[in-house]
Amino acid sequence: DEAEWAEFEAGEPGEEGGDAAPQPVLAVVGRPNVGKSTLVNRLLGRREAVVQDTPGVTRDRVTYDALWNGRRFTVVDTGGWEPDAKGLQASVAAQAELAMKTADAVLLVVDARVGATSTEEAVAKVLRRSKAPVLVAANKVDDRRTANEVHTLWSLGLGEPMPVSGLHGTGSGDLLDAVLEAFPATPRELLASGGGPRRVALVGKPNVGKSSMLNQLTGDQRAVVDEVAGTTVDPVDSLVELDDEVWRFVDTAGLRKRTKTASGTEYYASLRTKGAIDAAEVAVVLVDAAQPLSDQDLRIINQVVEAGRALVVAYNKWDLVDDDRRRMLEKEIDRDLIQVRWAERVNVSASTGRSVAKLAPRLRTALESWDRRVPTGQLNSFLSDLVAAYPPPARGGRQPKVMFATQARTRPPTFVLFTTGFLEAGYRRFLERKLRETFDFTGTPVRLSVRVRE
Ligand code: GDP
Ligand code: GDP
Repeated sequence: DEAEWAEFEAGEPGEEGGDAAPQPVLAVVGRPNVGKSTLVNRLLGRREAVVQDTPGVTRDRVTYDALWNGRRFTVVDTGGWEPDAKGLQASVAAQAELAMKTADAVLLVVDARVGATSTEEAVAKVLRRSKAPVLVAANKVDDRRTANEVHTLWSLGLGEPMPVSGLHGTGSGDLLDAVLEAFPATPRELLASGGGPRRVALVGKPNVGKSSMLNQLTGDQRAVVDEVAGTTVDPVDSLVELDDEVWRFVDTAGLRKRTKTASGTEYYASLRTKGAIDAAEVAVVLVDAAQPLSDQDLRIINQVVEAGRALVVAYNKWDLVDDDRRRMLEKEIDRDLIQVRWAERVNVSASTGRSVAKLAPRLRTALESWDRRVPTGQLNSFLSDLVAAYPPPARGGRQPKVMFATQARTRPPTFVLFTTGFLEAGYRRFLERKLRETFDFTGTPVRLSVRVRE
């Protein structure tokens, strides 16, 4: 058994082998019937795995590959098992002991409707000594009454219990975020803090042409690009050379492999999309030029904006668009994309390769805007001129004053305005538009927040 775990510890080799860092391992422990496998299925976004309704049914220990926010990791579901001669408590404690020795993080699942039993107390005693971080999932929080009980699990001494419902899926995103945070940093994340190729997500609804586009972009150059100087390449990503620059297309493993094994459910597909966007700096959203823009397209575009990533909208299958439609389309696009009229756009065909070369300059423009910092002096002289010419509308007889502003962050550009009163949404949008025009934020969301000082 120890040997089996040691294998998990080493991590599975990446699909392309190479020197990719081993995937971190999350071990899931808990009493039988607390909902471990239901929760694991939920975390993986798939439902095929069998859930046994009989308490204590013996299952093999199972490992799964999981992907969240662009990070691959292995989940070991210790499953149901029969308590051995030493009894339930001893068995669960032994399971926990093994988990904390071998995994990068341990998830203790507790049935929140039952609370902490003597078994959980015994396990917690073991886990409190763990060097690997331990998270507590309070499962079966399906309703408010149970939610109110969750705090009692603080008594386990393992930190904040996280409410989840394996059944409904609520809380699983937060739990996954916490799991990733608990893992030790990898080279990939060190890369994320600067340096290395810029990270691009290629997203869009099913059948819009993502894998065709990836093929078009990589062509037969992958062999060359994989050699790129000394960086660890996460096997889920593709390095692509475009316009004399190497780009990292994130989470492309599922696009490259046409097996589409795990992408069966829409739920899984949307997790993938979110993961890719979060892992990227700029997203290329493919939409189908031959069809009207759909709610699903808009949802994905919106996800990019909410995540604060730079945005390029690529109208794909342009080869299918006839002349009549072409004339209509520009207007249609302007109308459909009014919320993101600042986005970079390009009309392409993944099949023919048309205009695919235009992608790189669009990506660059969007990223430059995303990175742009406006010096405070320049920002404030722009702002005082603007506000003098167009004062904010008065409310309740009081004229709000904009005192000063700073750009608090880049990636995306985020501005904070200090005012003496509330600024209406319309006026804030006006300021944003002027900021965009003046300092050129083509291709990036811009955030503006207002601090009222009375
Ligand atoms: P395991 O033995 O610890 O892996 O637990 P299972 O995943 O097999 O779940 C045991 C039972 O709890 C099954 O009947 C599940 O349907 C049920 N269950 C799992 N998660 C939840 C949940 O969030 N809410 C409720 N009400 N039941 C759940
Ligand atoms: P994905 O599900 O987003 O990865 O989409 P695929 O790349 O699998 O493409 C779905 C279908 O659209 C396939 O039949 C492709 O051949 C087709 N397709 C993709 N891009 C284009 C394009 O630019 N023009 C045309 N005519 N067909 C395309």
